Amino acid sequence: HPKGRLRTREALAKSYSPLFNRTLDPETEVITSAGANEGLYAIFAGFLDDGDEVILIEPFFDQYIANITMNGGVPVYVPLRPHGDTNEIMSSRDWKLDINELRSKITPRSKILVFNTPHNPVGKVFSEEEMLEIAQVVKEHNLLLVSDEVYDRLYYKPDVHERIANLPGLWERTITVGSGGKTFGTTGWRVGWSIGPKNLIKTVLAAQTRIVFCVNSPLQEAIGISIEEADTHDYYEKNIALYEQRREKLCKALSDAGLPYTIPQGSYFILANTKRINIPENYEYPEVLNGRPRDFKVCYWMAKEIGVVAIPPSEFYSEENRHLGEDYARFAFCKTDETLEAAAKALLKLKKYIK
Ligand code: PMP
Repeated sequence: HPKGRLRTREALAKSYSPLFNRTLDPETEVITSAGANEGLYAIFAGFLDDGDEVILIEPFFDQYIANITMNGGVPVYVPLRPHGDTNEIMSSRDWKLDINELRSKITPRSKILVFNTPHNPVGKVFSEEEMLEIAQVVKEHNLLLVSDEVYDRLYYKPDVHERIANLPGLWERTITVGSGGKTFGTTGWRVGWSIGPKNLIKTVLAAQTRIVFCVNSPLQEAIGISIEEADTHDYYEKNIALYEQRREKLCKALSDAGLPYTIPQGSYFILANTKRINIPENYEYPEVLNGRPRDFKVCYWMAKEIGVVAIPPSEFYSEENRHLGEDYARFAFCKTDETLEAAAKALLKLKKYIK
């Protein structure tokens, strides 16, 4: 069924009902998708008319852009800004949204606000106070809120992932997107889901029926079983403990290499500040990097010469704010101990290039 396998929807409804403080109806308030990404695509396809504006908080998961523009939407950007000394170790808590800057981006064509917590790539877990401010703007301007919560099961003490849909007056206007790939380390299985009120999910279903029709059954069943089992085997707590250790390992590796970074409250990414890296001036880059910001060059050089691959985060910004990402590289710690240890060893090679 385009809504998804009944077993999977029932498992999702059972697992998420306590988290949304309501009894979710697996028939009308839950839909599976081919990964969170297709779920997001179906939401934009279902709700956007040509020229409708979608507000994105930078940096953002880069797939949002094509998902929006291919459905006639126009992305509008507002950045998170780091507060404090970016040359020192910071917390993702220090990356903040200026609510007045967000307000300044609202126009009569604003239709959707995309929100993401825990955040890729900053690792920020938004506080309830921060979400209340965003909720106010969303309600005042009658926006649809798309809450990308694919890392909802990965947050680290003392932070707790709160759901924006639970704030007063927001359930009615929020679709929350999740991912079996992120939750169970199975991104290639392409099973995700959206949860929200019946009248919103109905529109997502209409779009999804035209996009993939339905998600492959065997892996939906597998994710459904995983969700059933997870709740009875403390999987989420154990997984958090495992990822906490991985986070520590990568943080230590970056510290040992001499790079400042942002400690993430959630997700499995670490933004490191690469400004101090001094790449030899005559280093040759491939042609494809001509005209690309500094972070592309740093990541290329690091992959080739240091042996560790990171993502250049300027790709997660609009053209106008691209410079905000130029001094960073995004590292991921969704890796085995073996890989993290090998990376730590390789990163030590950076030391002699640090100013
Ligand atoms: N949203 C965010 C914030 C992501 O980081 C990702 C994956 N990198 C997705 C959505 C897509 O998830 P999926 O693999 O389930 O499509």
